[in-house]
Amino acid sequence: MSSVDHPIAQDARSGGALDARQKSMLEAMGIKLWQPDAAHAADAPAAQAQTQLQHSDSAHQPAAPLLSESNRAPALMQSAQNATETIANIIAPKVVIAPPSSPASAPAIRPARPSGIEQMDWAALQSAVSGCQACGLCQSRQNTVFGVGQAPSDLSQAPQVDWLIVGEAPGENEDAQGEPFVGQAGKLLDNMLAAMKVGLGDDGKATGLSRTRGAYIANVLKCRPPANRNPSPEEVAMCEPYLARQIELLAPKIILAMGKFAISSLTGSTEPVGKMRGRIHKLQHATCTAPVIVTYHPAYLLRNLPDKAKAWADLLLAMQTYRELLKH
Ligand code: URA
Repeated sequence: MSSVDHPIAQDARSGGALDARQKSMLEAMGIKLWQPDAAHAADAPAAQAQTQLQHSDSAHQPAAPLLSESNRAPALMQSAQNATETIANIIAPKVVIAPPSSPASAPAIRPARPSGIEQMDWAALQSAVSGCQACGLCQSRQNTVFGVGQAPSDLSQAPQVDWLIVGEAPGENEDAQGEPFVGQAGKLLDNMLAAMKVGLGDDGKATGLSRTRGAYIANVLKCRPPANRNPSPEEVAMCEPYLARQIELLAPKIILAMGKFAISSLTGSTEPVGKMRGRIHKLQHATCTAPVIVTYHPAYLLRNLPDKAKAWADLLLAMQTYRELLKH
């Protein structure tokens, strides 16, 4: 695992006022801004320094129009860039990104890949997951949860998405519905994605990501651990080949790893999320060179509201990394 510095640290020092759209992006994340009014702002040495953040759970964002294939590349909007710089200035800590500390190794259980998995197309992989009996979770599950994303034009092919979002494991609702992130944590994730205005719609307006546009959402585990307990190392190891093959077939440009299980599975590091944030990580699967950005799991954020601001800073890093990728 390795990581690199990123210019977000410099962005965090640029200034500017928030316009209505930028504010609504933060609202979508459940982050409310209170800025000094004009009279008091004049007294302030730096208005941003006085800006306070508070948090709330906001409702779903309305869906934005689909990204067209032809304008996926120009997805970098100047206005989003400005928003990025301004918001980063407010909420990102003055990050002097440190070199990675030596990571602890992930569990060394490496079972053989399910037979023939390297030849499986998307449909075959999906079918292999739904019939999987590699670990005991198959006995308690109602449904396997393969993932969700922009519909592919051909069902045997992986969806064509630039973004892969990886969570931990299905919970009760996901197990019942066979779809990831459909509970409360899912609502927050939908809001986080909607706030990531990395695309341009056909109407020329900025569009965010969603579970049906621009992104694919998957978990480390495809089956629910009973009573939502943590995945065991054996379960993670048994399921890992499926996520690895999903990554091979999706070939995402960038991956967002949410929470410690996704982070350790994708990067091989068992360092805490707080220590992994703010850097760009390398995927441990050799078949894909997509950078990995890490952040807190949405379920954690629901219990730790102040950390939403840090998660927003992580999303800014992800968006900026993506913009850089599209330049090359
Ligand atoms: N938490 C996850 O990590 N994944 C889900 O699908 C739901 C909740």
